[in-house]
Amino acid sequence: MINPNYVYSINQSIDVYRIGDDIIEFYFINSRRRVTLKVTLSVIDIISSLNGRNTILEICITNSVEYSTDVDAFLNYLMEENIISCITTREKEKSILSVTDIDRYDRQLNYFDSVFQKPSYEIQKRLQDEVVLVLGAGAIGSGIAIQLVMSGVRNLILIDKDDVTIDSLQRHFYFNVSDIGRPKTHALKDYLLSIDSSLACESYQKLIDFDTTMDQWLDRSSFVINTLDEPYIGITSLKVGRACYEKKIPMFVAGGFDAHLMSTGELIIPDVSPCVDCYTSHFSETLKDWEPQYNTAAIPDSEILNNRFEVGGLASMSLFSISYTVMAILNYFATGSESKYGRGELLFDKLEIKYLNISKNPNCLICGSI
Ligand SMILES: [Zn+2]
Repeated sequence: MINPNYVYSINQSIDVYRIGDDIIEFYFINSRRRVTLKVTLSVIDIISSLNGRNTILEICITNSVEYSTDVDAFLNYLMEENIISCITTREKEKSILSVTDIDRYDRQLNYFDSVFQKPSYEIQKRLQDEVVLVLGAGAIGSGIAIQLVMSGVRNLILIDKDDVTIDSLQRHFYFNVSDIGRPKTHALKDYLLSIDSSLACESYQKLIDFDTTMDQWLDRSSFVINTLDEPYIGITSLKVGRACYEKKIPMFVAGGFDAHLMSTGELIIPDVSPCVDCYTSHFSETLKDWEPQYNTAAIPDSEILNNRFEVGGLASMSLFSISYTVMAILNYFATGSESKYGRGELLFDKLEIKYLNISKNPNCLICGSI
């Protein structure tokens, strides 16, 4: 609801164009959305005066326009369309963030304002309050942790069993040669603290297997990201996802999924989205006739069962999956809803993404309705 005694302004990520005498177009720079309106000269005067300094009533008096129900309805429409914001309210909202953080996240806050129908400061505060458990500090998991800390997440728990090796330098974004031999989680923690020294970060070098009790970390987490790809991400997700479902914690499954490294993952929200068992049963069905093909000519038979071959990959491919994941997570923190895309993979030679549409299985023992 518009309060005529409050100050309003056009949002910063919107350009306004006047076309002829009576057409106004609002162009959302981030989303490329356009809102085109036929208006009167009086309305153009009001829009031109929404400068963030004068109240609506003051603007009406200056422009000799009556604050009518039509003007009120028009301004409310601009609010609903996320074209204008109330500066008076924003000044109050600002108090939930420090002055330093308002400066630090200025452009991100503008982005939130232009994309989400929720005050940007509330979204930023939520990022700061979340406790995110990142399982796996490989190329994908570490990159997600970095981008989340850059965006303002201040509480992280990192778990990974591996040390930094020389091949880590090719796909990870935080290792230096001097880190080789250190636990990945420790090296990553140091890097994250260099981005934000106020970060509360726990790091554990530990193998997560079927016998590992997760409660000690899950009970302190509000969001989980699983990138553990050993023995396979589908298997680790089943274990972690069932535990998350019980505790009503959202989980994002990210990673290269072995077969393809430019993948988009899925956000699993308990009681909202298909659960991890729905995904597992879907893949069990679609992959029932699939068997791995080994290049048996390359190595002696005796070594085949004992060797695990790494799928080829580039840092650029990891970065695609990382960025998609973080965009989807930020969307969830801002809106509470899942991404509309989910599991898919980018085929670079065609520049197209193939998505798998998975719905809730009504017969699912975990989330089914039957
Ligand atoms: Zn299910």
